[in-house]
Amino acid sequence: MKAAVIVAPEKVEIRELPVPEPGRGEILVRQHACAICTMEQRVFKGILKLPYPGCWGHEVSGVVEKVGEGCETSLKPGDHVVLGAGMFCGQCYYCATGHDVACTQRHALPQVAGITGIFGMAEYAVVRSDRAVKVADDLPFEEAAFAEPVSCVVQSANKLNIQLGETVVVIGAGTMGLLNLMVSQLRGAKVIVSEIDPARRQKALELGAHAVIDPTAGPAGEQVRQLNDGRGADVVIVAIGNGKANEDALKMVGPQGRVMLFASAHPATPLTIDPNFIHHSGIWITGSSGKNYKDLWQAALLLSARLVKPRPLIEDIYPLDRAEEALRRASSGGTYRLVLTM
Ligand SMILES: [Zn+2]
Ligand SMILES: [Zn+2]
Repeated sequence: MKAAVIVAPEKVEIRELPVPEPGRGEILVRQHACAICTMEQRVFKGILKLPYPGCWGHEVSGVVEKVGEGCETSLKPGDHVVLGAGMFCGQCYYCATGHDVACTQRHALPQVAGITGIFGMAEYAVVRSDRAVKVADDLPFEEAAFAEPVSCVVQSANKLNIQLGETVVVIGAGTMGLLNLMVSQLRGAKVIVSEIDPARRQKALELGAHAVIDPTAGPAGEQVRQLNDGRGADVVIVAIGNGKANEDALKMVGPQGRVMLFASAHPATPLTIDPNFIHHSGIWITGSSGKNYKDLWQAALLLSARLVKPRPLIEDIYPLDRAEEALRRASSGGTYRLVLTM
């Protein structure tokens, strides 16, 4: 099988590797699409220190090719599936209480021919059968690959418990911001998108945002109140990692509102908050990173039913052979998702 292997910072080799055999409890998946997330960009750039050579890629869709011996699963060869659940153990306190995102005994990363990784950027991968989730056969693979990023948004939306008619502000209209827009709308919210780039504001409007604001055009909190009958937002989702966005969020949120730090910040500028502001306003500040297995299921259902339509968020599609070019372009910023197909 072909695999795109990151052998050193900014260097990818297309290698020929043996197709792995599924063991007990495992399935072999013929992968067809893998979207490039920030995690892969950071490994490519050498910012995230993971072993070289490594084959990464966690936003994956494909078809079950083979079910390992003695594997108890309802999945069968030919089923379309999405991957990306992660290496959670299913046994520890957090897994048992429904927060496998916080698993404390993750399984070790697989190795194939001396290469470490999760092998999303390869033609085949072996995964545990209870980590793959079935999707509709007619869902295009490059759209199904969005199940993992959608699942991260689902985790956040579930945690925020967005109510019908609430006002949600999403800060940042990149891929994750716009997925937050889509899922917030599904939860019945009125959504305002805050974004400095005019083309991205336009995209947010095309995807159904009720209003957009430019946070550099005036005090962000005032702009939100003007659009919301004088009130701050019920929910603010910070989908871009910077200190200014976090500060804006605290100015946009209304009394009893919730602030979600959805994106990680690099550098992580400390957030200074007047404790009396929290005391008096009663706001909640929380975060969300990754997903639970349940969230991946919900994301798969949303995509299969076309309740979330990620097609406008695909910037470009590259064959696996051009993985290095795709990773370089994704890392240079300013793009929506780049998807590898194989
Ligand atoms: Zn991702
Ligand atoms: Zn666990």
